[in-house]
Amino acid sequence: MSIKHHLSEPLLMGYSAGTLPEAFNLLVATHISMCDECRAELASYDAVGGTLLEDCGSAEMSGDALATVLACLGEDTGKTDRRATPRRPGGGVLPTPLSDYVGGDLDAVKWRSVGGGVRQAILETSPEASVRLLHIPAGMAMPDHGHHGQELTLVLQGAFRDESERFARGDVEIADEDTMHTPVAEPGEDCICLAATDAPLKFKNLLARLAQPFFRI
Ligand code: ZN
Ligand code: ZN
Repeated sequence: MSIKHHLSEPLLMGYSAGTLPEAFNLLVATHISMCDECRAELASYDAVGGTLLEDCGSAEMSGDALATVLACLGEDTGKTDRRATPRRPGGGVLPTPLSDYVGGDLDAVKWRSVGGGVRQAILETSPEASVRLLHIPAGMAMPDHGHHGQELTLVLQGAFRDESERFARGDVEIADEDTMHTPVAEPGEDCICLAATDAPLKFKNLLARLAQPFFRI
């Protein structure tokens, strides 16, 4: 898998420190299960945080202490990899952290229509942020919108385009107060994403604004 769009440093550090809301934790854990690069970066933050230093025995902070710790983490990461072997026998779409949360693969998701052929399933988490699965029909555009906070969108199936950028399976789009966008699902395959937000979206379209409270978006 060639992932081009990754988690940001603050997100990985927040995940490592345990300071992210539950909804963001789930998205970060799901991306990490798909992405060797972010998993390696997370391991170095975990090492800095010292949480794994104890597991590695006493490492003196000499010149090669970091290398020792990283080597040790490498072993651990390997173990985690094997344990979290992502593809289910049936070739599921949801990586392990997410399928554990949902209690199965896509067939276990309780979709609800939000209009225009788009379906969503809000996953229950603590209230500081929300996270939902979105099913966007191939070729369909999401309503033009901005953000009051941060929005993370992780692609699980298919792909979408946003201005000039393309996001495919494993990619994360990070949008914030300065981002206005209109993501469009690519033709050919329906796009399934996991989207986490810590504040409501800003819609230009009146109908979309009226519908917001009903869809908790
Ligand atoms: Zn990554
Ligand atoms: Zn957005």
